[in-house]
Amino acid sequence: MLEVRGIYKSYEAQSLLQGISFLVGTGETICLLGSSGSGKSTLLRMIAGLEPPIAGQILWDGIDLATTPPHLRDFGLVFQDYALFPHLDVFDNIAFGLKMKNWKSDEIKTRIDEVLELVNLRGFEHRKVTDLSGGEQQRVALARALAPHPRLLMFDEPLGALDRALREDLLNELRGILHRTKIPAIYVTHDQDEAFTIADRVLLLHDGQIVQQGTPAEVWSAPNSVWAAQFLGLGNIIEGKIINGKKVETKVGNSSMTCNHPHQVGKKVHLLARPLAAENEANQIRGRVLDVVFQQDRFKVTLDNGLYFYLKEEMKIGRMLDIKVKLECLQ
Ligand code: ADP
Ligand code: MG
Repeated sequence: MLEVRGIYKSYEAQSLLQGISFLVGTGETICLLGSSGSGKSTLLRMIAGLEPPIAGQILWDGIDLATTPPHLRDFGLVFQDYALFPHLDVFDNIAFGLKMKNWKSDEIKTRIDEVLELVNLRGFEHRKVTDLSGGEQQRVALARALAPHPRLLMFDEPLGALDRALREDLLNELRGILHRTKIPAIYVTHDQDEAFTIADRVLLLHDGQIVQQGTPAEVWSAPNSVWAAQFLGLGNIIEGKIINGKKVETKVGNSSMTCNHPHQVGKKVHLLARPLAAENEANQIRGRVLDVVFQQDRFKVTLDNGLYFYLKEEMKIGRMLDIKVKLECLQ
């Protein structure tokens, strides 16, 4: 089991990570989700042993890996840019690491057959990697990472260079492969859809710290900060002032909110109004339709009070609308 314990990192006196700790359980896929520049790649490089942390430890089954060089950690890495050897064919790209580990040639052949089957590239052994599509190259990179039976797989925005449809397909396949092989994995991305699809557990990285973690459903249903709700694109965030108890005054009227913490009268809070109308709510928001955009199977309707909602029916611009909303307190 991998344990990351109290990792600190800075570059040129600029603090990047401040006390990152987490475990990756047996067969578990965790996803580190954070915006660009939040230190995700740096953290993976430290786990891989490619650079040292300033403080903290990386442990496997309780053993500190500080003195274990990258090639002896038995971790597989898959990058956004594939990092394949352009002068070698598919077979030799995958065989490279196995030869370094002194595998016999018949073992290498058997294993390459297995991993090519796993990533759906049977028959591709002698293709030049430079002739392959982006998706196929990423499958080769995945096969190469899987081949030596790593005890952990790490993915650094592996689908970032692919177009949307392909990304979805490959993501679902990868999810299947991780479940079948039961190899624990750390998947890093800035894309919340990707994270929520692949992860057993999501960790949100912000300002150098893990600010929230849980299953995708847990994080989705209870973001614990304004940043988390905004970053996950969960909907409208409005300010409110506590009138008393759960009653709150907002720019769209006085309402009651869902909240688990006590607040003093007059305290300012941030409230989340999810854009899917909440049918069973008593709270109602009134506004005039300002803009309507068709998105997937719904209409995104923006009101003149700045809030937006997804509705099944198309609305005429200028119409007054009453929408039921649940207001969730974010702090
Ligand atoms: P992410 O992968 O989340 O986008 P990175 O880990 O790549 O973030 O980088 C985080 C920050 O650390 C960036 O601001 C980057 O410029 C800085 N950084 C990364 N590597 C180095 C380095 N070797 N030297 C100096 N700064 C670095
Ligand atoms: Mg990165």
